[in-house]
Amino acid sequence: MRQPIEIKTKVRLSNFDPAETYGLTKEKTREATRGLLERIGGLQAKLYANTDRALLVVLQGMDAAGKDGATRSLLEFVNPSGVDVANFKAPSAEELAHDFLWRVHQVVPRYGHIGVFNRSHYEDVLVVRVLKLAPKEVWSKRYVQINRFEETLAESGYTILKFFLHISRKEQATRLRARLDDPAKNWKFEGADLLMRARWDDFMEAYGDVLNKCSPAHARWHLIPADKKWVRDFLIARRVCEALESMALEWPKPKEDLSKYRVR
Ligand code: AMP
Ligand code: MG
Repeated sequence: MRQPIEIKTKVRLSNFDPAETYGLTKEKTREATRGLLERIGGLQAKLYANTDRALLVVLQGMDAAGKDGATRSLLEFVNPSGVDVANFKAPSAEELAHDFLWRVHQVVPRYGHIGVFNRSHYEDVLVVRVLKLAPKEVWSKRYVQINRFEETLAESGYTILKFFLHISRKEQATRLRARLDDPAKNWKFEGADLLMRARWDDFMEAYGDVLNKCSPAHARWHLIPADKKWVRDFLIARRVCEALESMALEWPKPKEDLSKYRVR
């Protein structure tokens, strides 16, 4: 059986191949992705007209896993006015002076919008856990706190799709090297990337817990093999398209009787 994408049962990350292609071929898949992205653009127009629902896409992954690239691809045909993208960096002093979800809730997309989280509240059980930025008594309670938070969002009209972009350690090396060698990519390189890379196994363990503890039906994790960018972009586009379609979006009914109006 091919490896599942949607995480519904307990998984072991080491059983998943980051270079999996599901038998797809590159050129045909790229074409299919384009079709899906255009459909997403059309569906977004309807979402935008609805003011009681929103879509939240959460992207997580190691450095160079392709979070920026996946965001760019997913949003290729959408109207930028209807998109809220949030990038989560190390928290500021002001953010650290609040509970960990404070900064997150503020940037949840408004109704009618598609929101993309490039990193997210999951950093608070990933980098925070691996680098011991908070004690275990603090981060270990966060899985349940995150589930409660996402449940509140889901019950408030949010469709939540979470994608873990799973690259191999080898592919990360190739991409980080390119950041060192290519002047157009130098700006993306940070010394800290190598510190994180050195903790690869600890991060994989922490990701494993995230996938196994925080994937309820209303806020599923998807494990995206991300060594191949064209596979990554296709799988995300397909899932987002499907989610927007299953929202059964309609054009809102006019608020008043339009038959009484004439435009002269
Ligand atoms: P980048 O995605 O390359 O812009 O890097 C952002 C950095 O911010 C990464 O190294 C993240 O691990 C870090 N970061 C994001 N959220 C948190 C957090 N809650 N606590 C500590 N570091 C974080
Ligand atoms: Mg970085």
